[in-house]
Amino acid sequence: MEDTNLEQFASDNYSGICPEVLEAMIQANSGTAPGYGDDIYTAKASEKIREIFECDCEVFFVFNGTAANALSLASMCQSYHSVICHELAHIETDECGAPEFASNGSKLLLADGGNGKLNPTSIEELATKRVDIHYPKPKVISLTQSNEVGVVYSIQEIKAIKKIANKHNLKIHMDGARIANALVTLGCTPAEMTWKAGIDVLSFGGTKNGMAFGEAVVIFDKNLAEDFEYRVKQAGQLASKMRFISSQWLGLLENDVWLKNAKYANDMALYFASQLEDVKGVSLVFPVHANEVFLKLKSEVEVELKKRGWMSYAFIGRANRFVFSWNSSKERIDELVKDIKEIIQG
Ligand SMILES: *Cc1c(COP(=O)(O)O)cnc(C)c1O
Repeated sequence: MEDTNLEQFASDNYSGICPEVLEAMIQANSGTAPGYGDDIYTAKASEKIREIFECDCEVFFVFNGTAANALSLASMCQSYHSVICHELAHIETDECGAPEFASNGSKLLLADGGNGKLNPTSIEELATKRVDIHYPKPKVISLTQSNEVGVVYSIQEIKAIKKIANKHNLKIHMDGARIANALVTLGCTPAEMTWKAGIDVLSFGGTKNGMAFGEAVVIFDKNLAEDFEYRVKQAGQLASKMRFISSQWLGLLENDVWLKNAKYANDMALYFASQLEDVKGVSLVFPVHANEVFLKLKSEVEVELKKRGWMSYAFIGRANRFVFSWNSSKERIDELVKDIKEIIQG
């Protein structure tokens, strides 16, 4: 095991809890409160989410993103339906079949597309591939914002996907594990990026933005919210001491801390990428739109970085991924840059 005190950029879930969230949890720890979400913090957090989305949506709190995605998709699908997603989508590559499990068998149909993005052509191909009774009927499109390779869909791109969705009677789910990073990049409102662009259900990420744990399911199409609380409970996702999830959301959303955190993380990703811009032997595999940087490195460089104690995932897009968060330290980024340069330039 590596020394856990040495800061790493393998993922944004390596970072700790941001001070505002921790403070909100401490506040929620005074006195008692009813369990299972019947408390004032949960009511306030739901209201705050409705306020930032400018919408009378339904809000549910769960422990993690896999549950948020799996339960969202289950609410949008019958078991004989299918979900169109990108082949690199977290729901396909990193959730151990949870969406299929939660929906009793709804199948994921994988589309390709540059920069980890779905596009109208790839969606339409899958949506129209088969119309017979022997094939699971396409029902949902799931897209990730910002996506698995750190790229952001523009509002126009989401709207173009919505057009195809309408044409083929498909609903749209957004995996927003890093939605704050995308919002900062586009400079649009949460409403513009979601329900106004045609998103029906959102998995709203809190963990990677600065919470200890916790994601929210935000359901814009209220018909899909029917009995959702039972899904949450049956899946083992209903927190008994719910206030320690919901108070975290208050800490994150009040005073726009979530956007401040995301902006800092995005800035650090851009800083890291810019420091390597002119270094021969290093190239960016994907454009840097949010808080992730994917580097193509020679295998010797990869090995040597590892020897020097740097951790990085290399399973997405066959590139070394570095992810930045609300408290990534510039000094440590400089150390990483220095090591990469030293290894390459000898
Ligand atoms: C991290 C992440 C999730 C959530 O993962 P959990 O580990 O289940 O919380 C979902 N989608 C994407 C794109 C992610 O990066």
